[in-house]
Amino acid sequence: MLITKLKEREEILSVLNSKNVFIFKCFGCKEVYLPEGEIDLLLTELKCMERMARVDYLCREEFTVKYLGKYADVLKKADKIVVFSCGVGVQVVAKCIPETPVIPGCDTHYINGFQGLTTQDVDCEMCGQCWLNLTGGICPITSCSKSLLNGPCGGANKDGKCEVNKDMDCGWVLIYKRLKLLGEEEILKRHSVNIRDYKLIINGDKKE
Ligand code: SF4
Ligand code: SF4
Repeated sequence: MLITKLKEREEILSVLNSKNVFIFKCFGCKEVYLPEGEIDLLLTELKCMERMARVDYLCREEFTVKYLGKYADVLKKADKIVVFSCGVGVQVVAKCIPETPVIPGCDTHYINGFQGLTTQDVDCEMCGQCWLNLTGGICPITSCSKSLLNGPCGGANKDGKCEVNKDMDCGWVLIYKRLKLLGEEEILKRHSVNIRDYKLIINGDKKE
């Protein structure tokens, strides 16, 4: 199973306070716990409940495409989208609306138990520290053969394929292209992703 936890307040406060942000909250599937009460408290406090759509199964691309169509008018004015869901939901939204920055509102953690299957071509390793806001909504852990956190290994082929598997696109080439489309490729120079706390990956949401 997996569990999503609301990100630290200071990580998402400035984005949520922006007037042109639109928010998706995915109450999703039974395998994912979403801290819906905590999210609603925060959105109520920041007076942005009216800019939020409560939906389910953002991980299913065909559903997400429908939601994006339904909210097309407000999304046209949005300069950012915050998504409260597991890492797959965030990635699917970013894939379907690649010209708008998509920010994760939660971190996704592993807990023991049945793991639902995603039918999408994106996946989440439940690392507990989601950096999709810095990578154009593409997960470096699941899209790179070596799960590199701070840019490519330098071994990608000229056609953008991975050196480990030439049938696979290099995840970091995809991340660069997505950031360039967003006009945000400078992010890669400004930020380095902190080394992850691997205890979170091995032990899920337990620190010890
Ligand atoms: S960075 Fe990747 S593995 Fe980590 S929570 Fe986000 S989508 Fe999942
Ligand atoms: S070529 Fe790209 S995807 Fe492959 S291991 Fe190197 S950085 Fe990762």
